[in-house]
Order: sequence, then structure tokens, then C-alpha cells
Amino acid sequence: MNRASLRKLFSHFPLLDELYNLSFIKNIYQRFFLSNLTEPQYYIELSNVCNAECVFCSYPAIRKSGKKLSNINDEIFDRSIEFIKQHKRQTVSLTPTTGEVFIDPQWQKHLQTILDLDFVEYVHFYTNAALLNGQNRKKLFQLRGFEKVSMSFSTGGIDKITYRLLFGKDLFHEVKSNINAFLSELHHRGLKIRVSVDIKLPKDQICSIADAKRTYNQCGYKYAFIKTRKAFDNLSGLIAHSSLDVIKPISSRRHQRPCAYLNDIRFAANGEVWLCGCVISELPGNEDLKIGHLNDLQTSQEILERQKDISGRWSHDRIIPHNCQECTWYVAR
Ligand code: SF4
Ligand code: SF4
Repeated sequence: MNRASLRKLFSHFPLLDELYNLSFIKNIYQRFFLSNLTEPQYYIELSNVCNAECVFCSYPAIRKSGKKLSNINDEIFDRSIEFIKQHKRQTVSLTPTTGEVFIDPQWQKHLQTILDLDFVEYVHFYTNAALLNGQNRKKLFQLRGFEKVSMSFSTGGIDKITYRLLFGKDLFHEVKSNINAFLSELHHRGLKIRVSVDIKLPKDQICSIADAKRTYNQCGYKYAFIKTRKAFDNLSGLIAHSSLDVIKPISSRRHQRPCAYLNDIRFAANGEVWLCGCVISELPGNEDLKIGHLNDLQTSQEILERQKDISGRWSHDRIIPHNCQECTWYVAR
């Protein structure tokens, strides 16, 4: 099953979130279902600038490392699209490794270009929703092909103190109000756009799905999937905040086969091309998963060769990229 079909399936079962938040259902979903859902996708990072400073994210460290932060420019975006047209895939994600989609003032134009590609069936992105204001909501509803879009909102707890603790900024009221207003507009327009609200929690906090719905889905939009997350990848030792539970790293002995996410290609806002779109794929000082730059005179074929080399060295010589060695998102191919 591909992601587009999964999205359609979910839209028929609006109460799946109640089930998903039972831990044994979550385990079954992650171990048996998600691991089969690994058809390759592209990531296009519209911006690597973020308006939050989450304690579970590498963004604060990346910013301090001096990485140049910017929105994607037209030239880099057009080259990414050229590459995608040459090697078609059905799914494109705009989720940045670190960054916020709505910071790019050209996000609507770029998203429209992607939605207009007839072979693209599914476009997904994560946002922290702090900039999902009336103007940006209006732009979303103006998009041709909006029904191909699915969005996930990343937020912290259900009150402003928890939000400040986890996201490092006082944005709770904007986030709560924007998510409610967006779900209400979807509800009143009779749309079935699948939206998820991913609530991060500190280790000492419990949040019921009913309370989460009262906070973020006051209109009762049926296709909003609310989930909570209490444990985080330690991002190769980068994350050690006292309020967080960290997931025990997976021993690299279990990483017998290359990770399925090595099939994903990310076009970064600065023109770099990377494998895998997850937050751990790019950490300060490590470029094992970087496979090219759109400004270099590399052909798309040469970039894809580099992708094959990394997978091949993992399969044949057990040379595992540094960031993958203990990554808890690993999925065997
Ligand atoms: S998790 Fe997302 S919102 Fe938070 S700092 Fe990282 S990129 Fe920004
Ligand atoms: S192991 Fe982790 S970092 Fe490596 S490709 Fe898989 S998800 Fe990405």
C-alpha cells in the first residue's frame, strides 16, 4: 500500500486516533504496517529557518553551528523540480529536516508547482502552525489540487507552560487558535483532508485524547488524528533535556539491512542533496548522508549513483552511516 492509498483509507475511519493511542496498537502499526510503507519519496525543504527552538530537535544546535539559514531560492527550487520530473515519484514531502514551511514567503507558489505535477499524488508536510494565520489558511484553500495535501501539526502539550518548556517560545495561543480555526474551516467546507496533531509531552505529564481534542479540535473535525509523543530519539547524543524521556538507541547490530529511508531524497533549502528526510539525517558536523549539491555540475544520474554506493556499502561491507548507527527511526528494507 502506498501513502496516497493509506490516506484514503484513514479518511474512512475517522476514529482511528482513539485506537492508535493504545500502545499495543501503536506497536503493531509501527512494526508491521509502517515498515511496509516505504515507497521512496522526495523532500523539498522550502526553508531551513525555524521560529521555534524545540528541546527535542537539533535545530538549536544547527543554528549555533553557524549553518547558513535561508529559504529556498527559485533556482534551487526549479532544479529540484527538474530532478523530480526526470525520476518521478508519487509522494513529495515539504517537511524540512529542521525549519518551518510557512517562513518561506513563496510557499504557496512552490506548493502549487508541486501539486500541478500530474504524477504527484500525495504531498505532506509538518508545521508548527504558529504561522498558519488567516492569510496563510486562505492561501491553502486557494490551491489547485488541495485534496492531495495532508498536514501534521507539531505542538507541545495543551497549555502555554508546557509549550514554552518544549518549544522554547511563547507561541501556544497562536498555535492553538490557528489549528482550531483551520480544522473549523475544513469542517465547514465539508472537506476530508487528513490532518494529524502530534502533541509532544514531557516525561512527567499525561494528556488524554479527550483533553487534547478540547484544546486543538474544538469543532470536532472528524479527520483530525490526534496523537501524543512522550519519548524522543536522542539524536546521536545531542538531546539530553531533563524534562524529556529519550528512546534507548537501537544497537547497530540490529541494522543488518540498509534502512528503507535511504531511498528518500531531500533537496535542502541551500541546494544540498541528502538521503533520508528525518531530523537525524543531518546533524551538526556530519555529512555521511549528503549525496550532492544542485549547484555542482553533477547529473541526476551521478547523484543517484552516490545513493546506491551508500546503500551498497551498508549491505555488503556493513559500513553504516554515522547518524544511522543508533537511529530509532530505522526501518529494515
Ligand atoms: S522540531 Fe520543528 S518546530 Fe521545533 S525547532 Fe525543530 S524544526 Fe522547529
Ligand atoms: S537509520 Fe535513521 S537516519 Fe538513517 S536513513 Fe534510516 S531513518 Fe534516516
